[in-house]
Amino acid sequence: MRALLPALLAALAASTGAEAAQTLQLQGTLTGADHQRYRELPFEVPAGTARVEVALQHAGDGERTVIDLGLLDAHGFRGWSGGARRSISVSRYDASGGYLPGALPAGRWKVLLGIPNIRATVRTPYRVEVTLWDEADVQAGRDRAPLVLRDTAGWYRGDLHMHSTHSDGSCSSQQGAKVPCPLFLSLQAAVRQGLDFVAVTEHNTVSHLEELARHQPWFDRLLLIPGMEVTTFQGHANVFGVNGPLPFRLGDTLPDWNPLLRQVNDSGALLSINHPALPSGEDCMGCGWTPATPVDMGAVAAVEVVNAGQADGPRAGVGFWERQLQQGRRLTAIGGSDSHNPDADGGTTPVGLPATLVHAQALSREAILAAIRQGRVVVDVANVAGSRLDLSLQADDGRRAAMGQALALQAGQWATLEAELDYPDPARLEFIVDGRRQPAAMARDADGSRRARLRWQADGERHWLRVDVRGDDGRLLMLGNPVYVNWPH
Ligand SMILES: [Zn+2]
Ligand SMILES: [Zn+2]
Repeated sequence: MRALLPALLAALAASTGAEAAQTLQLQGTLTGADHQRYRELPFEVPAGTARVEVALQHAGDGERTVIDLGLLDAHGFRGWSGGARRSISVSRYDASGGYLPGALPAGRWKVLLGIPNIRATVRTPYRVEVTLWDEADVQAGRDRAPLVLRDTAGWYRGDLHMHSTHSDGSCSSQQGAKVPCPLFLSLQAAVRQGLDFVAVTEHNTVSHLEELARHQPWFDRLLLIPGMEVTTFQGHANVFGVNGPLPFRLGDTLPDWNPLLRQVNDSGALLSINHPALPSGEDCMGCGWTPATPVDMGAVAAVEVVNAGQADGPRAGVGFWERQLQQGRRLTAIGGSDSHNPDADGGTTPVGLPATLVHAQALSREAILAAIRQGRVVVDVANVAGSRLDLSLQADDGRRAAMGQALALQAGQWATLEAELDYPDPARLEFIVDGRRQPAAMARDADGSRRARLRWQADGERHWLRVDVRGDDGRLLMLGNPVYVNWPH
């Protein structure tokens, strides 16, 4: 019985993800005899390792000691960064500059030190810390430090759907040929569109994870969220916050959507159903949402209600989404350009149209995903700089719910629904209560923003109340998510 206990504890630790990464210390002292020589520091990499991190520390800078860094895996060369970096990592899906991503063979690896300079009488102690992460750590994102580009709460503007050379994105080459389009061009287009974040969502692949990781330090105002458009014969869905490949062979190796949904939610990512109302057929194979077996919609976080220019009409996803709300499923409405061409030539949709505005606690992957789940989110069809739409419901007893939040109201209780809009004229507001639309009269407040209010009496039942912005011609300009009344969560 006692012998079983350590195994049981280890299994428990593994199942709760509490198992710490393994850290190895390799230390020594360099002397004048190491001048212009190399040293190999061997260490063992066990099977199942998915990221190797190497960090070098020494205090010889003041004495002009220089230590170069490189890495050999069990098969040979893995990378070299010279004196450019003191910490590097390689994983199955990405690697620091100068290093090769890919499978990590088990066996004897070596940290390679080169010593271009150490003075004859100097002794420089060094310490190399090697950290090993397994596949579960990598899939759950435990192997990367959260990146916060801005630590202030507020509205952040992004595009949650785009493709590049890593799937079927294309653009014009220098000579005008249609070629697979470099991802960097889409990211630059996002900057020109004034976006704060993008999700790059390639079809059924994660080959872009490495490029995103390498580009992120340069894009220090544009958060790059690795995504994947799970593209099946029974519909498409974007997963935001992927750390590795996901199953997509629905009806083959994947029996239905539900195991994928569990895997996505367990890893801290979230899934959004894409363009649900597009047709499925020879014009757009598998594009519409046509699951052959029941989907646990409670595990779905969002729906792409505006894909590219499809904001109105039968191809927009608004009707599908509102039917989900009517059935008591609380899904956040988002938008995505589905840009396949950052130049937007040949009639393709530009990056940023539509934009999705997200009220988040910070500009970080974790905060943006949490905010999408929470639902204070607005789709801005035309990506109008500075535009803003917000909504709240305040009960007469003083309790208040913001967009995305829920309020419990008993039958007979009164509340005020208040919308606030910053948008160029002409634009008008429309309240939507349980799918029924009614125009809202706007008044300009002293602060210059326009507000509309609706007095509303609860009947003790479940309801959702939201607001849209439309142009003079009736076209949808902005779509707001609901406040919820008497919803269970
Ligand atoms: Zn799609
Ligand atoms: Zn797409």
